[in-house]
Amino acid sequence: MTSTVPTAAHPEQPSQSAQPAAEAELPPLTMAGPDFPFGYDDFLAHPAGLGSVPATAHGTEVAVIGGGLSGIVAAYELMKMGLRPVVYEADRIGGRLRTARFEGCGDAEGLTAEMGAMRFPPSSTAFRHYVDLAGLETEPFPNPLAPTTPSTVVDLKGKSHYARTLDDLPPVFHEVMEAWNACLEDGADFSAMQRALRERDVPKIREIWSRLVEQLDDQTFYGFLCAAPSFASFRHREIFGQVGFGTGGWDTDFPNSILEILRVVYTGADDDHESIVGGSEQLPLRLWEHAPDKLTHWPQGTSLKSLHEEGRHRPAVTRLYRTAGNRLTVTDADGAIRTYPAAVFTAQSWMLLNQIDCDEALLPADHWTAVERTHYMESSKLFVPVDRPFWLDSAVDDEGNATGRDVMSMTLTDRMTRGTYLLDDGPDKPAVICLSYTWCDDSIKWLPLDANERMEVMLRSLGEIYPKADIRSHIIGSPVTVSWESEPWFTGAFKANLPGHYRYQRRLFTHFMQDTLPEDRRGLFLAGDDISWTAGWAEGAVQTALNAVWGVMHHLGGSTDPVNPGPGDRYEELAPVELPED
Ligand SMILES: Cc1cc2nc3c(=O)[nH]c(=O)nc-3n(C[C@H](O)[C@H](O)[C@H](O)COP(=O)(O)OP(=O)(O)OC[C@H]3O[C@@H](n4cnc5c(N)ncnc54)[C@H](O)[C@@H]3O)c2cc1C
Repeated sequence: MTSTVPTAAHPEQPSQSAQPAAEAELPPLTMAGPDFPFGYDDFLAHPAGLGSVPATAHGTEVAVIGGGLSGIVAAYELMKMGLRPVVYEADRIGGRLRTARFEGCGDAEGLTAEMGAMRFPPSSTAFRHYVDLAGLETEPFPNPLAPTTPSTVVDLKGKSHYARTLDDLPPVFHEVMEAWNACLEDGADFSAMQRALRERDVPKIREIWSRLVEQLDDQTFYGFLCAAPSFASFRHREIFGQVGFGTGGWDTDFPNSILEILRVVYTGADDDHESIVGGSEQLPLRLWEHAPDKLTHWPQGTSLKSLHEEGRHRPAVTRLYRTAGNRLTVTDADGAIRTYPAAVFTAQSWMLLNQIDCDEALLPADHWTAVERTHYMESSKLFVPVDRPFWLDSAVDDEGNATGRDVMSMTLTDRMTRGTYLLDDGPDKPAVICLSYTWCDDSIKWLPLDANERMEVMLRSLGEIYPKADIRSHIIGSPVTVSWESEPWFTGAFKANLPGHYRYQRRLFTHFMQDTLPEDRRGLFLAGDDISWTAGWAEGAVQTALNAVWGVMHHLGGSTDPVNPGPGDRYEELAPVELPED
């Protein structure tokens, strides 16, 4: 999700380089907070490390269920502590960091398509720690109106607007931007919160956020807009919903809790996106093979891969039960049964309801309710490889004169495609078009169609916007597509809390703090972006993995170095706001 119309803190362009001077002098914005403002980045960077377990626990097996980013980060850090993570993965390492390749199209075989996460904000600093550790490079992602995006077309109700910068768009888009900035400022103390987040001013963050959580937990995104005097105009709300903020159309998020949206805009999660050169899937794959410089118990050169039999993760978990002595017993798809003193569960939490035969004793009843109430957003994407970035050719008018415009642009539209992204690797080299990226109802519209049928509808839709661009003549390979809601080991793209869900979310996030749970409910730790405050962002997958690592360490009698306290050590000070249950 990214910002088309800049938010209050970025009045000129959605780029940090364009920040006002006073703001640029402040510390950078990070995705730590507002719910649990723990500095995961500082924790990770500290030379004292993340903590240790008693020597008697070294070599102890810990089950890590799910080999997405969260599971791999948790396993990697547990290995560094001298534990032996056993990773179970139903499909492939990477999960929703899934990079597809195009087969059978010659030069284009090296091209990639990000089926899940494809762009990451600089504020996802814990995520960035691992990107750097894995030695991966990033580059600007061509979001609408981003400084490096050659051009953007906004096509609404059959009318197209061509723009290189926001200034090129008609006044109504500026009015929408002003309405959005005003409602954030008036209804959500936007500037004050961003400043507090930058300064990691915990009392201030808590003061603002506790008031807003109480006021707004029962409010939808759309309700928040409607209640704002600046958004009195339906037309403004409609334009805003379709293109005003977010690359795929934020109207699909209108039923979600406004708290979800505030988390995104406060933390700059939608600003200045970068993609990972060569594909995001490389991150978990490299961590799987990475031998840490510093690790306890294991010989130098040990990696997650080397700790697993034949270098392979275990298959899908089919059964998860508690057994005597507060143990967790895992059965996998090969029929193997193993028992562990602790387990980290990182798959989407509905897997506990449908794909895995679970013991009710795994979680307290309140946590089961929270799992059951989890709400997911659907998402579909389709990519095609093309011979070259033909969109940069100069468009001509009916008389054959050059118009000075690109033949085709990054496109936001209210048509079926919603968001189209143009991804090139340099002039005259094969390139990729994401013909369509959609969420929620817009994603479900694609479900009955296979990849080729989807492509046909998309080409028809884009043909209405670009009658002179012969996209089809440039396509050099078959389309690749995904709808996350119909993938076997997933229940949607990512969780999105609905109004009234704050308490459920709090239960899931705080589950790593188990001292107050009955002893026979401890030892299983939930992690993954489902459990985080920022589902849909890889940062949440990393942050909750680190919480789970702290939880396992504590459960096995370990502790952090006092000079580098972990999320659990600082919990009392930072704990998320609690709303009354009665
Ligand atoms: C369409 C889309 C767009 C996104 N865009 C962005 C973006 O632009 N920026 C960003 O930061 N984030 C984005 N995200 C979110 C990001 O991809 C996730 O936050 C992150 O990848 C989640 O990692 P995870 O480990 O928590 O979960 P997952 O990656 O889902 O990992 C869970 C793993 O569990 C496995 N599993 C399931 N059942 C079992 C079982 N029974 N046994 C064993 N394993 C099992 C699954 O196969 C999966 O590999 C996007 C996600 C999607 C889907």
